[in-house]
Amino acid sequence: MEDKLTRVYDRETFFKLLARQIISVHDHKVKLSLLVIDINRFNRINKLYDYPTGDLVLKKFTKLLSNVKREQDYLARIGDNRFALILVNIMNAGHAKLAAQKILRQLEVAFEIGSEKILIEATIGISLCPLHASKTTALLKESEIALESARKNKQFIGMPEISKEDHLSDTWDIELAIDEAFQTQQFSLYYQPKISLKTGKPVGAEALLRWNHHMRGFISPDIFIPIAEKSGHIKPITSWILNSVLRHSSKWTRKWGRLSVSANIPPELILQLDLKDFVANAIKLWSNDNVTLILEIIERSLVEDPEKSFEILKQMQSMGVKISIDDFGTGYSSLAYFKSLPINELKIDQSFVFDLLTDSSNEKLVRLIIDLAHNFDLEVVAEGVQDRQTLMMLKNMGCHIVQGYFIAKPMPHEEFINWLENFKELPKELYP
Ligand code: C2E
Ligand code: CA
Repeated sequence: MEDKLTRVYDRETFFKLLARQIISVHDHKVKLSLLVIDINRFNRINKLYDYPTGDLVLKKFTKLLSNVKREQDYLARIGDNRFALILVNIMNAGHAKLAAQKILRQLEVAFEIGSEKILIEATIGISLCPLHASKTTALLKESEIALESARKNKQFIGMPEISKEDHLSDTWDIELAIDEAFQTQQFSLYYQPKISLKTGKPVGAEALLRWNHHMRGFISPDIFIPIAEKSGHIKPITSWILNSVLRHSSKWTRKWGRLSVSANIPPELILQLDLKDFVANAIKLWSNDNVTLILEIIERSLVEDPEKSFEILKQMQSMGVKISIDDFGTGYSSLAYFKSLPINELKIDQSFVFDLLTDSSNEKLVRLIIDLAHNFDLEVVAEGVQDRQTLMMLKNMGCHIVQGYFIAKPMPHEEFINWLENFKELPKELYP
């Protein structure tokens, strides 16, 4: 049923709609937010002008709220000068706050009613379901309490206090957003070049996942990858990465000869038997004789069941795929089984490379890793090379390949294609 004056839903219908949407929250694991919006000191308007003017203010105010409401949301008048806006299917609290800020921003312009210019203020209380409450009356109460406490503190927007529970559900927030991001193609791959210190030429690139969220901007993989690993999203994401790196690299120039493309494989996936299948499928689909696929895995991937993981890695190698140990030096590699590791490359963790010039124990470690690689006939890559001196030192130590901001930052695929075209070998004096 409609409210007669403003033609939005009335209080009774509001409760029914809210109840229905809350069921949907539980069924589909989505989120909704309830905004309760009060026009401040509305009685004063009625007293200062007259009731018909008060009614016109309510109508104009309703119009303004309708501008913020999306098609799927619900707007209702639930008291004389109190409105409710149900925002369905939202991602997080920031989303709801943004809607509240939009409402307040529109109020900066006075309403023109007849010859009068009437400036009004509003206070908004926000709550989220299921975060703050999961029942209609409780949720409404949370928004109303938030509204009152905002008003008491002379603020315009209020939300229930952040508790430990909120913190947990922040993870849930991202989990949900990761799902949406994957479906709506918010992920992309950036490529960071690797350069040979023997020839000064590019030898390949590492693919690094990027998430450009439409409201939060770039979210670091260090934040969302561990969550995607826990939630199970990492498997379809990794499958997408494998296909994308092979598809992309099939467009790379042949000017530099054979190149490699490295993809990061999370530890959980190593022991999954179908990893081999989806690597094999991706290779078959994008068959490319100019590019070698390198899988970067961290040491931790191998400790759980070394025998089984070795077997899986060997199968990969038999398909022509190379295996690289990422962040080498930070894990628990036991020298006892190092000799039997089915790997082709060691990547020295960047934490050792950053302070190479100033920290003598890092220097010893890096030297050790490089020697180890030489003895076992492995390629050795230093990542995180940020300056010329570090590069020279690595070269003198016998490091084969470098990657880092000194050469280039990770860049979108199109940019990387141009970079490959235009790169002029490293100047000889850098690797005498
Ligand atoms: P990682 O595999 O050790 O990747 C190297 C990180 O160092 C990247 O950060 C890269 O941008 C950064 N980096 C490279 N050169 C420099 C440098 O000279 N200076 C500094 N300060 N940083 C440098 P990013 O892209 O933020 O990735 C962070 C981590 O997230 C990665 O560490 C990797 O563990 C994970 N990650 C990134 N992309 C993927 C992916 O596609 N799949 C999986 N499973 N994990 C990924
Ligand atoms: Ca890596």
